[in-house]
Amino acid sequence: MSVVGIDFGNLSTVVAVARNRGIDVITNETSNRATPSLVSFGERQRFLGEGAKTQEISNFKNTVCSLKRMIGRPHSDPEIMGREKRHINANVVEGESGETAAAVMFQNEHQIFSFAQLAAMFLVKVKEFTSAEIKGPVNDCVISCPTWFSDAQRRALAQAAEVAGLHCLRLMNDTTAAALGYGITKTDLPDPADPKTKPRIVVFADLGHSSYQVAVVSLVKGKLIIKGTAWDRNLGGRDFDDAIVNHFIKEFDAKYKLDIASSAKAVFRLRQAAERSKKILSANPFTMLNVESLLDDKDVSGTIKRAEFEEWVAPLVQRLTGPLEEALRAAGVTPDEVDFVELVGGSTRVPIVKETLAKFFGGSLDGSNKLATTLNQDEAVARGCALQCAILSPVFKVRDFSTQEWNGYPIELSWDVAQAPAPKSGEPATSSMEAFSLGNPIPSSKILTFVRALRPDELAAGNGSVDLVLDASYGAVALARDFPTGLGANIGSWTIKGIKHYPSTDVKDEAGNVVSSKATIKVKTKLDANGILVLEAANQIEELVVPVEEEAKPEDAAATPEAKDAAASQAAPTTPPATTEEGKDAAPKTKKVVKRHDLTIVAHTHAASRDQITKWIAAEGEMYASDRLVIDTAEKRNSLEEYVYEVRSKLEMAWSDFVADEDRAAFSKQLNATEDWLYGEGEDATKSVYVEKLNELKKVGDPIAKRYIEAEERPQAEKAFREY
Ligand code: ATP
Ligand code: MG
Repeated sequence: MSVVGIDFGNLSTVVAVARNRGIDVITNETSNRATPSLVSFGERQRFLGEGAKTQEISNFKNTVCSLKRMIGRPHSDPEIMGREKRHINANVVEGESGETAAAVMFQNEHQIFSFAQLAAMFLVKVKEFTSAEIKGPVNDCVISCPTWFSDAQRRALAQAAEVAGLHCLRLMNDTTAAALGYGITKTDLPDPADPKTKPRIVVFADLGHSSYQVAVVSLVKGKLIIKGTAWDRNLGGRDFDDAIVNHFIKEFDAKYKLDIASSAKAVFRLRQAAERSKKILSANPFTMLNVESLLDDKDVSGTIKRAEFEEWVAPLVQRLTGPLEEALRAAGVTPDEVDFVELVGGSTRVPIVKETLAKFFGGSLDGSNKLATTLNQDEAVARGCALQCAILSPVFKVRDFSTQEWNGYPIELSWDVAQAPAPKSGEPATSSMEAFSLGNPIPSSKILTFVRALRPDELAAGNGSVDLVLDASYGAVALARDFPTGLGANIGSWTIKGIKHYPSTDVKDEAGNVVSSKATIKVKTKLDANGILVLEAANQIEELVVPVEEEAKPEDAAATPEAKDAAASQAAPTTPPATTEEGKDAAPKTKKVVKRHDLTIVAHTHAASRDQITKWIAAEGEMYASDRLVIDTAEKRNSLEEYVYEVRSKLEMAWSDFVADEDRAAFSKQLNATEDWLYGEGEDATKSVYVEKLNELKKVGDPIAKRYIEAEERPQAEKAFREY
């Protein structure tokens, strides 16, 4: 069992693991603590993470980024081909089911991959280097996602993890993960048992590569509660880079007559240089920006003063305060009441960002302020995820720390009015309800009761079963909270099947004909720990008034589960008035009995279908095996090449006394022939051919090597023996 936390960033991904000593951020195969969130496609194989980064320019159109921002979003979303496409070098197209996908050349074929699949490929890489680091299989993990991810995005990410063969125990909001990492390591948090202490209020502000998130968190020993969140989905470091890019596009046009905007590659290279300059400006008042042969073979250069940069990004910096205000308002907390502001995300290193945050909370950067960086701003989210994974893992001992999430997007359930009872005159037709309000704690389960009218035509059709269709959607309040556009308000639709007509609720006319009836349905609805809406179970309540059998004692009746259910039930009052447990001598003894009939639920959400997932898993398996084969083949080819070089020089030097002249000549010839073959027709042979060739050479070389080694060891052994 693995205990792994993955901060799946839009720019880069950080992985932390729990070990006996604590939480460690691990390094990837090139010894970096952050891995570029990129996937690249080549003629023979895929390159994932670091491998993709090295080809970002040379394999421009086939290297895909923005995996996190694109996942779970339909291609029809106007933002996709608008602001997002500008940052993606690969062709963005519509996938099989309307999702956003990338079209690439892979193994010399045009291929289309949905972003869920692309994210899965990247996660496979994450799994691989993590597994190498912990020297064991990786399955259980916790993955971070932005607070503003909708149901569809969360489902898509969870499915990507599944396709990657990861068992994601929880999707955790970025800022919540950071807060957990903070809370669990602070030993001086207020003790909830002490009535005089107030919880500590900490604001977590995460400004990353592409988005900005704020959470107002109340912490006591052993527990944190998210009191309010807000965000700007479209504010991050990349926008700061763009501000520099936009400036230099104009400056270089004037200076060098270059139309940089006409070349996507030139814009990309300028953006890379802009990012480097931006980082330098975080610690220096001035920097240069240089790009060699940016366009038309021209080298370009310019200078940036920090003050200029701050002017260019002023409109962006202004947007930092809105989410702070909104999150505080939602939490019912004033800036004064905030104890600390913890900075998370790479872009909080920009001095003007820090200054703006400090000022908002009544301080200044040179004077006193509430900013705190007790967290490692690049690794806090991954650490928090690993801690959460440790808490959830049965095998790992870690101090328990509970986190209570805050629902940022209220959810409504609605149903067709025709299915609901006709409203009484003057009453509005009830066709929707708020299931989870803004700020509802997460996770949260609710038993919701629906009354399904059984219409005369349905009754006439006999006692077959009918359906109740519940549609879940985000209401106006949710959509106003910087909701990902283009996803639409719809979350999904759940058909509850098997609803029957039970005569106990019949309404009859004077002639005794049934004119209407209704069914009471209870649905267990859950906003789960991942922030995903689930309709877990449904049953139909049948309330009956039955005569108490003579021999049945009242205690026994009360002990039956049905009677207990009846007591606990909040269902509509029973129709017959003469219900009484004790009964009167004159009236027959009756009791109320509640029967629950299980109903089936069929879900239609934005998640990919089971079939689709199965196909993606199979496709990933094949691609993985094919990559593996390409890598193994290259390794075997290398071993053969190395052997040729090594042995050839040994034959002349160290081994020369241990081989007869004519044998040496023959072996040299064989080695040369192998070398020629390697650079000729053997350039692209199969793994087994390389292995076979190496074995042939070794058949000749090994005995020589053996004679040499024995001769080398003998005098030493004799010497050791003498000394003994
Ligand atoms: P997101 O959270 O948006 O999905 P992410 O987690 O990959 O993205 P981070 O790693 O938190 O993003 O931050 C990356 C951003 O931080 C980049 O835009 C990078 O340029 C910026 N950044 C990193 N170091 C510095 C620095 N010293 N000065 C200014 N900006 C920096
Ligand atoms: Mg991040």
